[in-house]
Amino acid sequence: MITICEKDNCTGCAVCMNICAHNAISIEETMPLGYVLPRIDTNACVDCGLCANICPVNHPLGLFEPLKAFSAISRNYDDLMTSSSGGASSVLAHLIVKRGGVVYGCVQRNYKDVAHRRIDSIEDLSKLKGSKYVQSNIGYIYCDVKKDLIDGREVLFTGTPCQIAGLKAFLRKDYDHLYLVDLVCHGVPSQKLLREDVEYLLKDYPIVDKNKVYVEFRRKKQHPQERFEPDFGNFISLNVSIRGGRRKKKKQKFLNDNYITAFMAGTIFRENCYNCPYAQRKRIGDVTIADFWGLEGKSVPSTEGVSLLMPSTEKGLKLVDACESYLYYEERPVEEAVNGNGQLQNPSSRPEEREIFVKYYPRNPQKAYKLSLKKYKDDYQRKVVRPRICKRYEQMIQSDFLLRTLDKVPRFRWFFLGCAYAYAKFNNIVPE
Ligand SMILES: Cc1cc2nc3c(=O)[nH]c(=O)nc-3n(C[C@H](O)[C@H](O)[C@H](O)COP(=O)(O)OP(=O)(O)OC[C@H]3O[C@@H](n4cnc5c(N)ncnc54)[C@H](O)[C@@H]3O)c2cc1C
Repeated sequence: MITICEKDNCTGCAVCMNICAHNAISIEETMPLGYVLPRIDTNACVDCGLCANICPVNHPLGLFEPLKAFSAISRNYDDLMTSSSGGASSVLAHLIVKRGGVVYGCVQRNYKDVAHRRIDSIEDLSKLKGSKYVQSNIGYIYCDVKKDLIDGREVLFTGTPCQIAGLKAFLRKDYDHLYLVDLVCHGVPSQKLLREDVEYLLKDYPIVDKNKVYVEFRRKKQHPQERFEPDFGNFISLNVSIRGGRRKKKKQKFLNDNYITAFMAGTIFRENCYNCPYAQRKRIGDVTIADFWGLEGKSVPSTEGVSLLMPSTEKGLKLVDACESYLYYEERPVEEAVNGNGQLQNPSSRPEEREIFVKYYPRNPQKAYKLSLKKYKDDYQRKVVRPRICKRYEQMIQSDFLLRTLDKVPRFRWFFLGCAYAYAKFNNIVPE
């Protein structure tokens, strides 16, 4: 019987399932962590070998050197506020649909169903917005893309680089009216891990309808005053937005949610993500899209995220140019983009704690998260949270406002002493 590719290298791109004319391959969740892998129905399989022959793991596809890099944000304020980064992918999608084309991307129907869908109306484009930090279910979407291409429609497909590779391998030829947008990707956890984490959180809510529970992976601050903070990332809290149920507990706080913390720590990705051949500067798509980390000096004005748009083909460059009137954008050196983004250099490294997670998860998921994330949380407190608090406190001491308030309101001194104590504690300053 055929082995499609090495299990630990399989990306779950589903090209084998899409290409099989005998419906002999299905993509199924495996136990215990739920990473999807192909399963071959031996009765239906005719041993033609097509699946193994087109698999991009067995036959790597060519990658392109980026031609240019742009920092970009959407001119539409709503787009910017409802996208995870600068809203550049919404702009690309909007342009294609306006020209009569179709767009394929990841939609969350609810926390149990995150999958690639076909969108061809402006009203439905908002369903694509926001990064869903989980492996999207591809289903038979490559077949739909091919049908649209044969019908002569312009198609924009956005996905992780391994999904783009899957689509390219499926189509086996280039189409002038197909635009491939690959996301810079940290790695993908399985939907089973997300589902079980949300179900654990839902125990605290008297939920009416679980089909109306959605996950916000990355929320922007909406308060007008907060919007002017310099940390344009504004992310990481996994917010479970409950529709039709009343909240018993307070919202999950930053770093309290296991799944998203483990995502940031890199403990729960598919095995192949730690070896990803696409996590480098050369790219698989026509345009690469990411957060523009490491943006130096002045660029497009945004405290709500700045997208990186990095075309690697002439077709991609034309597409970005066509978006000119919808974006505030500026050309930046490709090196600046690559140097600022770890995933444009190397795949995520496999933390030692992953073994702990794999070992404990089947018996006790909460214990698995707790033990495997301890070091990450401690490091995060030490390297990020403490310096941030100290910086704020220093700014406060230096401001005239504090001194004037201390003069006017003597009781405020207790608060001041409290802050001084916290400052000393966070900095490990021990009085002699
Ligand atoms: C799993 C994952 C990991 C990522 N890791 C990084 C990283 O390490 N560094 C970095 O700079 N950027 C990363 N990104 C990309 C980043 O989160 C933003 O999506 C990107 O900057 C574009 O932002 P935007 O504001 O233009 O649009 P957004 O509103 O964020 O993007 C929406 C687009 O992303 C697609 N999309 C959303 N979720 C998925 C998914 N699960 N699978 C496939 N496509 C999806 C949608 O179809 C849509 O086209 C990652 C994205 C994903 C999905």
